[in-house]
Amino acid sequence: MKKCGRIQLNLLKDDIFNRFFPYKILVYADKIREILNENMPCPVVWHVYPSNICNLDCNFCIMRKEKNDNPKHILDKNIFDKIGNDSILNDIKLIHFSGGGEPLTNPYLVDFIYRLKTTKKKTPNLALSTNGLLFTYEKLGILNYLDHLRISVNAATQKTYSLLTNRPEKNFIKLVKNIEDIVSYAKKNKCTCNIGLAYIVTLSNWKEIYDFVKLASSLKIDFVHIRPVFYEKDYENNKLKNLLPQIMELCQMAQYDFQNKHFKVYTITYKFEGYWTNRNFTKCRSTPLQAVLCADNSFIVCQDVFHRFGDYYSNSFLEIWKSDEHKKAIEKIDLNKCPRCVETLHNQIIEEIFIKNTVKIELI
Ligand code: SF4
Repeated sequence: MKKCGRIQLNLLKDDIFNRFFPYKILVYADKIREILNENMPCPVVWHVYPSNICNLDCNFCIMRKEKNDNPKHILDKNIFDKIGNDSILNDIKLIHFSGGGEPLTNPYLVDFIYRLKTTKKKTPNLALSTNGLLFTYEKLGILNYLDHLRISVNAATQKTYSLLTNRPEKNFIKLVKNIEDIVSYAKKNKCTCNIGLAYIVTLSNWKEIYDFVKLASSLKIDFVHIRPVFYEKDYENNKLKNLLPQIMELCQMAQYDFQNKHFKVYTITYKFEGYWTNRNFTKCRSTPLQAVLCADNSFIVCQDVFHRFGDYYSNSFLEIWKSDEHKKAIEKIDLNKCPRCVETLHNQIIEEIFIKNTVKIELI
């Protein structure tokens, strides 16, 4: 492990045109103007939680309450068909399957992906976030249709994985084997799916960051994404915040030692800040750019705030999306009660560029 210096900081700054580039939201300026004119544009992204059931029990899971409140819900086959039709009709750019619980616990998901992608119509891109343990050999075929796959790993050793997930240590060996199979299948079949491993930094795994990146690099995936956990208790968040300089140094060392043009190490410092610093926007306006459908057929305003609206079982997507109930759910957003916000920069861009014109857009 090399000690890190200025060169790594430059590397972090230079590599800005990547999947996390926040200003890409400006491509959707028309939709942002519609929002500001109090219309409800169709969203760009549709997050779908196929299931509230999970095979793990991670200590840091932000969906713990949702899973406890609605424990047994899964989306049924008809709802997937509706999602397929509505996403095509409304020109949704990406469907992202995540949780909720573990998406692959839903028995209809894999079949839906095959059916959607073998229609002759133009379909949205597909992303899947999973813990990877249920990615059996029979499911590998979906790699031909996914554009993005993110596997949550969060550890570099069996012991830490077991501690974080409250499951036996042997799961970690299975997970690594599954990732090897995924990479090997994708390579053999020339899949264009972008494959990444996620690492949520917690008080119990932060020391393993370097070894995790080393492992990921040896597995020949495309990228890793390292980001902080959000604890419900302030004192735990503060503890983690105090460790941030050491955490960033480990990230930078790993980046220096392992990053190359085929393997990227993303740490995304602006998301670290958005968790703990004061909000620098006055109102949340970005939620209509992303729809979030829960496993109980209701929509919520954003991935972190469970103001529910609509019943997708009984109504069409547009009826729900353009409804007063949706508007009321947005009006209920209270920034002081938002737990964390990965939309911080998007909201700031909308306010500073579209409303205040702080950047003087006429001066290009
Ligand atoms: S966390 Fe709050 S501010 Fe952020 S997107 Fe969700 S509702 Fe908006």
